[in-house]
Amino acid sequence: MREAYLDNAATMKKHLDAINSEADFYRKINANPLRGLYKKSVQATTGVNEAREAVLKLVHADKSYTVIFSRGTTEAINMVANGLLLRDDGFGVVNRDAKVVIDIESHHSNILPWKQRYSKVLISKDLNKDIRGAKVVSLTGVSNVTGQNFLKRIREVRRTLPKAILGVDGAQMVGHVDFDITRLGADFVAFSGHKFGAPMGIGGLVIKRELAEKLRPFNYGGEMVDAVSLDGEPTYSAIPERLEAGTLSVGAIFGLSAAIKVLDFDKNEHAERLAKMAATELRKIRGVKVLVSNGLIVTFQVKDVHPHDVAQILADDGVCVRAGYLCAQPYLEYKGWGPVVRASFSNYNDKSDVKALVKAVSKVRKKMGLE
Ligand code: PLP
Repeated sequence: MREAYLDNAATMKKHLDAINSEADFYRKINANPLRGLYKKSVQATTGVNEAREAVLKLVHADKSYTVIFSRGTTEAINMVANGLLLRDDGFGVVNRDAKVVIDIESHHSNILPWKQRYSKVLISKDLNKDIRGAKVVSLTGVSNVTGQNFLKRIREVRRTLPKAILGVDGAQMVGHVDFDITRLGADFVAFSGHKFGAPMGIGGLVIKRELAEKLRPFNYGGEMVDAVSLDGEPTYSAIPERLEAGTLSVGAIFGLSAAIKVLDFDKNEHAERLAKMAATELRKIRGVKVLVSNGLIVTFQVKDVHPHDVAQILADDGVCVRAGYLCAQPYLEYKGWGPVVRASFSNYNDKSDVKALVKAVSKVRKKMGLE
């Protein structure tokens, strides 16, 4: 059975160059970066530095930004939320009761890292009204539920609040939208490589150096200290290493560089056309409600059928979609939608994937004995 992979917003298929680049690192280099003085260690260090440069270039960052690697967006936002909190260890910028504002469209990964650490987190349905007095604002770049792009809104928030710490959950944006972080005025953007063809387990923060200097490290250990004594305080490494304790996912970092190299924003048009086509065709099916469709995403429900049943029936026909709350339960509840089905497209999809989706969805109600 042919597979129609339409769960690209969850994770994209990996680009062959990225897979090969990761495998080649382990085949041919396989050394720890930074500390080794032998050739392969230097090659690993060079590769990591090149990947940092590639990420900075991808988002058009100027010299005021740096890159901190993490496992992905979730870890990156946790790194900031943890790092910003003032404690008596010399790190941090804001108190636990500082006003933190996030948008209602937020993924759980932009909700829980804040909610778990700060006492005044406002999940805003109206940013214009709610951002007044905010010390930290962390916003969705592109929604994983609606596909909506919020760049304009982020710029407006920056204009209104020039002094607040402004962050962006870029999981669905970095590698998909060609944006300029410097012009956006964001203090940090979190991203996941696996959402745009790089291996899983690598992502990070593009962050203002000045802010990164103030962050408390998320992890303590090797590679992030210069000197550790029997007693007394350690002296920490400079940024970015200070915030990257332990051995990095170096193979994945090499894969990330390769994935960035082959990115082609012009090809998005093709995937967007397919999503549009899918939305149009799904709307024609009796009992199907397309709730929203933008960019690469079509979110829908089938009348009287739980989205998990829809996804299972589609899976039986080789169509891979995501169903449920899409890790954005507050938003889906706010909209009054509850759980949904999401089809999400990428450049390698084609019309036959749309056809397979539409055909499988058109059979759902009958298979459930409703027609
Ligand atoms: N934010 C958004 C908008 C997402 O779509 C996702 C992934 O689904 C995440 C955050 C979390 O990304 P990751 O699981 O790679 O950390």
